[in-house]
Amino acid sequence: MDNHCICCSKKPFADCCARFLGGTQQARTPEQLMRSRYSAYALGGHGDYLLRTWFPATAAGLTARELSQRSCEWLRLEVLAKQQHGDKGLVEFRARYRDDKGQEQVMHEKSVFQRSGGRWFYVGGEVSSAPA
Ligand SMILES: [Zn+2]
Repeated sequence: MDNHCICCSKKPFADCCARFLGGTQQARTPEQLMRSRYSAYALGGHGDYLLRTWFPATAAGLTARELSQRSCEWLRLEVLAKQQHGDKGLVEFRARYRDDKGQEQVMHEKSVFQRSGGRWFYVGGEVSSAPA
């Protein structure tokens, strides 16, 4: 096992998502936030981070406890496109995971981000699922 970040950035974890998950730094771009949220899901146990970076209006009803559970095994992340216009951001990505039947699946999402008070938040995403 190497110490590369689980978000597939090829950077050491300490120089990548660990800074954001640990709360020592705020993500400065929508892509950094998206990657750190993927890492939070992939590692499990970071529900508080996921909730803290979720736009409050769209996070209604979610709990840190539920978000901390690993629902599947995340295998790989590819960022396909990113855009930023002022306080709005968009990141398109493909994430591979193994479902509870051991089948490899692909989640393709266009995530929308909003900056508020100098911090980026995840607003929501347009998801399309397809077999691997
Ligand atoms: Zn990372």
